[in-house]
Amino acid sequence: MHSTDTPHTPTPADLGSAAPARPVGRDAVYRNLVCCEECDAVYRRTPLTKGAKAYCANCGATLYKSGRTLSQLLPLVIASLIVFTISNAYPIVKVDLQGNLSDTTLIGAAMAMFHIGREPVGMLVLLTTFVFPLLELLSLLYVCIPVVLFHTRPTGVAYALRLIRVLRIWGMIEVFLIGVLVTLVKLVAIVVVIPGVALWSFAVLTVLLVWVTSVQVTDIWDEVDAIEPE
Ligand SMILES: [Zn+2]
Repeated sequence: MHSTDTPHTPTPADLGSAAPARPVGRDAVYRNLVCCEECDAVYRRTPLTKGAKAYCANCGATLYKSGRTLSQLLPLVIASLIVFTISNAYPIVKVDLQGNLSDTTLIGAAMAMFHIGREPVGMLVLLTTFVFPLLELLSLLYVCIPVVLFHTRPTGVAYALRLIRVLRIWGMIEVFLIGVLVTLVKLVAIVVVIPGVALWSFAVLTVLLVWVTSVQVTDIWDEVDAIEPE
């Protein structure tokens, strides 16, 4: 079990006394505070032993954890991108368009939705199975490489992390899986699913994405914040 650290809940007086006039000092104070994502309770950070997690005393949600996050995340992100490429490079269905029977990828299947007049479904599939996961993986790669390999902050790291946050609000894994399932179910009348490389690599990708999204954006922020700006 993880050791539980119970942070002290600051009173308004604590926060008031901790608000100096200079912005630099204020940044340092904010960096030392952590807000529970579930119930908005605010805590002062305390150092954790290796592998320990801090939980919210109010609702029990995880606040933050110790340890190097991004060095573990980088290989996962690279593996996900490789599997993502394989998933989208191999045909996943046989589709019958105007008498032409051809093998097609998931993107090809989404395009087929446009041909049969189901544009909203095609757009949903395209966004959830391709655009959103690819954007998140590339944003993570953009943040991870400079931090892990060169110990520098990438330019515009805040925008990249905010983008990842927005993408996660869409519930990446659930939406991704629904997107793949909708494609297969909706198209089942006009296509045959190929139980080949693409289908299995989508299964592997789903597992990898569960791992990738288990790393909280706040933990990535913390590690980026630990690097002094140049
Ligand atoms: Zn809480």
